[in-house]
Amino acid sequence: MSATSSAPGDLEQVRAFLNTWRLPHETRSPADDLPSLITRATDWRTALPDIPRPGPGDLDELLALRTDLRAVLGHPAPAELRAWFARHPVTVTVGDEVQPLRYRPVDSGAAAVIMAMVAAALAGQQWARLKSCPDCRNVFFDHSRNRSRTWCSMYAETPDGRACGSISKVRAYRKRRRGN
Ligand SMILES: [Zn+2]
Repeated sequence: MSATSSAPGDLEQVRAFLNTWRLPHETRSPADDLPSLITRATDWRTALPDIPRPGPGDLDELLALRTDLRAVLGHPAPAELRAWFARHPVTVTVGDEVQPLRYRPVDSGAAAVIMAMVAAALAGQQWARLKSCPDCRNVFFDHSRNRSRTWCSMYAETPDGRACGSISKVRAYRKRRRGN
């Protein structure tokens, strides 16, 4: 099973959006990439190709959406998102054999497109696999069979590995050695 943190399909863009809020290991002080990212068209297209780049007037809504989505990571059926779906309704159309149902936003703004991606993830039971690392808060997709992954990466050598799980094990070991 892959140790990657990437989510399948469009959900990877939702993951990238959520990770615009970061808690860098070096500083342990929150960093927010979203305000500057919306001003950089090329970087936005690279990071979030299918999400329309919002204007400055949409920033507050996107910050609120990011906070609310982060709050329900790992929840298979988050009722807290009802207000967001009421605000940005999603329509369902018939797709193909691979993806029988397609979820489309009613309006074309960034928040609406993100909610349509979230709807598809909920319907495909993939949303609950999107988790936030308890240490660095990095959002990762849990590919493990029994959804047992807790840390963003147990192995520092993986491409996006921060080794939070390993760091925490070392901390626990040292604590035990100190006897407190
Ligand atoms: Zn982590």
